[in-house]
Amino acid sequence: MSFADLGLSDELLQTVTDAGYTEPTPIQASAIPSVLMMRDIIGIAQTGTGKTASFVLPMIDILAQGRSRARMPRSLILEPTRELAAQVAENFEKYGANHKLSMALLIGGVSMGDQIKALEKGVDVLIATPGRLMDLFGRGNILLTGCSMLVIDEADRMLDMGFIPDIEEICTKLPKQRQTLLFSATMPPPIKKLADKFLENPKTIEVARAATTNANITQWVVPVAAQASEKRKRLRQVLQQEGMRNAIIFCNRKTTVRELNKSLKRHGFRSGEIHGDMEQPQRLAELDLFKRGDVNILVASDVAARGLDIKGVSHVINFDAPWHPDDYVHRIGRTGRGGATGIAFTFVTPDDAENIANIEKLTGQKIAPLDLPPAAEEEERPKRVRRERPAREDRPREDRSAREERPREDRPVREDRPVRDDRREDGERPAAEAPAYRGEDRRPPRDERRDRRPRRDGRDEGPDDGWNGPIPEFLMVSLNR
Ligand code: ADP
Ligand code: MG
Repeated sequence: MSFADLGLSDELLQTVTDAGYTEPTPIQASAIPSVLMMRDIIGIAQTGTGKTASFVLPMIDILAQGRSRARMPRSLILEPTRELAAQVAENFEKYGANHKLSMALLIGGVSMGDQIKALEKGVDVLIATPGRLMDLFGRGNILLTGCSMLVIDEADRMLDMGFIPDIEEICTKLPKQRQTLLFSATMPPPIKKLADKFLENPKTIEVARAATTNANITQWVVPVAAQASEKRKRLRQVLQQEGMRNAIIFCNRKTTVRELNKSLKRHGFRSGEIHGDMEQPQRLAELDLFKRGDVNILVASDVAARGLDIKGVSHVINFDAPWHPDDYVHRIGRTGRGGATGIAFTFVTPDDAENIANIEKLTGQKIAPLDLPPAAEEEERPKRVRRERPAREDRPREDRSAREERPREDRPVREDRPVRDDRREDGERPAAEAPAYRGEDRRPPRDERRDRRPRRDGRDEGPDDGWNGPIPEFLMVSLNR
């Protein structure tokens, strides 16, 4: 099957060829002709299977006819997070290069003024997170009555984040005569209900069993002790392994993300972080550093990183085993994208047995344990010993910033910055009816869990400062995009 068989226009086929795609993915092959025939679609396919192009491409051809009117977008794409929304917008820019479609991105964390201006001119494609859209709608800046095409993307993630009531409300503001496309990696019952209510005679396309992991990803569990210091030591060892070009490291909590990034920097690694407490421009800037290879380690939380499409990620490391098995599938799906191979390591403490069992049940696969030799000598150097520093210009740049971040020695090292709201990851407006749990910390009995788990304040680790060792060679390799 080739793209030319799907009924797309010649201009579009040209951009697809320019993008380097030779063959449609299975979800694209099934969805594109039906979308062009104006059918409603339910598309279920695991993460990384090219769902975005399966709606973006036919939408470009459909929207090429007709023109936009002020404040009345012609189509609406709902995305659960700002990053995903930005990513879809990039896709429109890339594939729409030969078309003159106008687009607006409505996401939290960026100034509303520019967004309103764009809307007033009239847009063909509006890409939004539900929270920001509802805000603008409430202010009367937007009319959805001319919106004849709706895409609900990453529906299972919307559910996790408590956006379903918002989506239901948004659906009622669109004209009844419209085309609706819903995409999801999994199809939990509330999503099924949503589809039954708002889609008309949809064609269901399911290309792989929901929640299977990509066969191109080699998966390992790495047994670790529960103490944070031990986990960090193991992590540094794993990061020094051969072939470790770059890695996204997932933690269950934002505080762990911040701590771990600081610790890695202190040890001379080029790392960055991304989580929902960061402002949008800062999140995008960190992502960009990683995409460009200026940092080759990105420490991330689930909400900030799910669905991110970054090419050439060689490794995913779950510093914390995810609490929710679906998250595992999404996390490791950041590697092995677009036919490439990838490696995923999941750290498991004795407490994590149940989490791993749930993951194995969901994916129907046993994950083999990786036996690592005991951590290397350098890690065992006596703590609180300062080493001689080489002259400033001899030291790698990263080390300088690490030094700025280093806490004073008389202060506890793991002292935490106050967390604004530990439950809310994404900074989106919460749905009033949303469940009390959201995003990465959405498992309700959290306090209980905390009690069962060893404290992670890291007091046992001692200061990490004083490290001026060389940066391993592999960390210097940059990412080719
Ligand atoms: P999903 O939404 O299903 O998780 P994406 O739409 O983000 O997946 O696509 C995953 C990756 O696959 C992207 O890097 C995209 O550029 C790439 N991709 C999409 N379609 C094709 C194709 N037909 N051939 C090769 N790569 C593709
Ligand atoms: Mg997607």
